[in-house]
Amino acid sequence: MPLQIVHHPDYDAGFAVNHRFPMSKYPLLMEALSARGLAGPEALSMPRPAPASWLKLAHAASYVDQVLACEVPEKIEREIGFPVGPRVSLRAQLATGGTVLAARLALLNGIACNTAGGSHHARRAQGAGFCTFNDVAVASLVLLAEAAARNILIVDLDVHQGDGTADILGDERRVFTFSMHGDRNYPARKIASELDIALPDGTGDADYLERLGGILPELTARAPWDIVFYNAGVDVHAEDRLGRLSLSNEGLRAREAMVIRHFRALGIPVCGVIGGGYSTDVAALAARHAILFEVASGFA
Ligand SMILES: [Zn+2]
Repeated sequence: MPLQIVHHPDYDAGFAVNHRFPMSKYPLLMEALSARGLAGPEALSMPRPAPASWLKLAHAASYVDQVLACEVPEKIEREIGFPVGPRVSLRAQLATGGTVLAARLALLNGIACNTAGGSHHARRAQGAGFCTFNDVAVASLVLLAEAAARNILIVDLDVHQGDGTADILGDERRVFTFSMHGDRNYPARKIASELDIALPDGTGDADYLERLGGILPELTARAPWDIVFYNAGVDVHAEDRLGRLSLSNEGLRAREAMVIRHFRALGIPVCGVIGGGYSTDVAALAARHAILFEVASGFA
């Protein structure tokens, strides 16, 4: 069975090419996956939009209604970083439905990845930082509500701290939130995860991988995890416009292998989401995101 990949063409909301959020990375990632032979018909599943009932498990009902009606107040849109029109609203619903679907496929097959997701700055009350809905928080709460999982671990290695996820799941004892990120990166005011590791600017491959390798066994020991959500943001890369941690492509590949091998060797299902990545060279950026899928396919 090939690696199960969840994708929808409307993950791309069609922003202008010079927008600060590089929306064209979604179709380019699919091209990269096709070129690597990873996107055959047996590999791909298409999500449906997440229904309001799922979204309201993680977010204030009033905010969910605003996004679905495309009536998000301008002040919140400014915090998100773009206006929430019909395409952005649909994209947020699809990306969230995609992470729920990828989680279900991971529970069935051991590993699955969404070609979107990792919108970890969206808090309970509202979106922020290019994140409309917090797909991983929604998916965690859906699995718990359906009794499809009892203990959930979130490993968030995007370069930015997972403040929204911590905000939503802080009181949920069945979900453990771990974030390893750049200390000086957004958000300026972080919301504490269950475990946070803040790294200095310019950390680089060797120190980064050493910290990660040291923490994974500690995370595993905390509970009998039924599933791990892995936010594989590539904004840790040296050429990222926003990140400050200076990883190379080889470092990224080693990171994905370290995380996935660790949990799969223990038989714990892994649901990968792509997280952040910001670069004006969007083809290079898409190739960075593709590394998660290349590595994950070796464990499918
Ligand atoms: Zn990020």
